Amino acid sequence: MSYDENNIFAKILRGEIPCNKIYEDDFVLSFHDINPQKKIHALVIPKGKYTDLDDFSLKASSEEMVGLLKGINTVAKKLGISTKVGKGYRALANISEHGGQEVPHLHFHLFGGERVGKMVE
Ligand code: AMP
Repeated sequence: MSYDENNIFAKILRGEIPCNKIYEDDFVLSFHDINPQKKIHALVIPKGKYTDLDDFSLKASSEEMVGLLKGINTVAKKLGISTKVGKGYRALANISEHGGQEVPHLHFHLFGGERVGKMVE
């Protein structure tokens, strides 16, 4: 699937629509999910144009890969849910149709602040 420049996260990255920002650096932007499924529900997205985790794994540079993982950890620390400062969380990436992905720009969901529950329905 080619990257859709008009997906909602691309618009957020371009500053065309607002987000409730948690963190930003050269590699990632993080913001609160608009429809939280748990007490804490954050999203972490790479700044590069990648549709999903498979696309990212194939095309991203090593620097971008490290940047995304470090970004997830930084956001978890900021939210008080990383194992260093809190009780943990779930990081989840939906991939394409069977994965239930709705927004075609790679994103990790971070769920926490309470027990997250069953892994899959
Ligand atoms: P997914 O099903 O993995 O593609 O998840 C997409 C997520 O993006 C959902 O949890 C939505 O609630 C969330 N979402 C959609 N639009 C926005 C927005 N404008 N700001 C923040 N989160 C959003």
